This record gives sequence, C-alpha cells and structure tokens, in this order.
Amino acid sequence: MPGPVTDARAYELRERYHAAFGGAELPVPVEAIAEDLEGLRIEQGHEDGLSGMLIPDRRLIWLNGDDVPERRRFTIAHELGHWICQYREGTLKLFYCRPGDVAAAADRAAEREANVFAAELLMPEPAVRAAWTKEPEIAACADRCAVSTEAMHWRLYNLGLVEERPA
Ligand SMILES: [Zn+2]
Repeated sequence: MPGPVTDARAYELRERYHAAFGGAELPVPVEAIAEDLEGLRIEQGHEDGLSGMLIPDRRLIWLNGDDVPERRRFTIAHELGHWICQYREGTLKLFYCRPGDVAAAADRAAEREANVFAAELLMPEPAVRAAWTKEPEIAACADRCAVSTEAMHWRLYNLGLVEERPA
C-alpha cells in the first residue's frame, strides 16, 4: 500500500512563497523558499554517507555537494520538511540525514514525514496530474519538476497514475 501522499503544510509553504515573491509554479523554487521565505542558509560540503543536515539553531541546511542537482533539490525540500514539521523553537535537535533517509525506503517516521513533505513540495499534485495528462512519460514529468525520475515515479505511483511500483 502506498503511504500517505498529502501534507497540507507543503502546499501552505508554496502558497506563502508565491504570494510574497510570485514567479513560475514549476520547477518549484525550493532554494528560494528555504533562503528568502524561511531565512535559512544553504551550504555545501563533502562527507561520505551524509546527504544533508539541518542545524536549526544556526538556520542552516547543509548539503552534500557530490550529489546531482535533482538530488540536492530533494534534500533541501527534505530538510525543509524537518524544519516545518518537526523542529520546534528552543530545541537544539540536529537532523542528520543519510542517503537511506532521503529515500522512499526510509525506515524512521521522522524521515518518512520529511520525504512525504518533500515530494509534496516539489511535485504539486495538480501540476503533476496536468503534466502527466499532457505527456504521460515519467522522465518528461521529472524534467518539468526538476526531480529525479525515481522521485517522480514514486510520486506518480502514490497518486495512482502509474501501476508499476518503482524498483
Ligand atoms: Zn532527514
């Protein structure tokens, strides 16, 4: 069974951004949402076994610069998920995300919640449905949203638009 596919907080975040800054709907401007709307900084580094990190009290998202751009976009959205859904002012908790956490098979509830949020943020359901209707190709829809074909395949599967479960 597909997991939960909706997170209203991702819609709300996107709407707040577009109300303040305007701009095109796709690809979702995830860096600007983090930096200009939420006041977070984004830094890149190199660390084996680490995709991203959220250091809330420094308002910092750390990314692995070795990852491809689509992957880094998903990681930013994932860290925004921790920031919006889980971080509470005053806690000093640090979110440390391995590649397996920023993936469909994540086993920890907090990581799964961040991934649902990220998918929702980067691949708005109405826009994905419209793109799929226009051109029912996973790669074409992935290009529209600037996400990996794997992330788009999961999104389409969870929305019931493709029957084949991603490998
Ligand atoms: Zn995480």
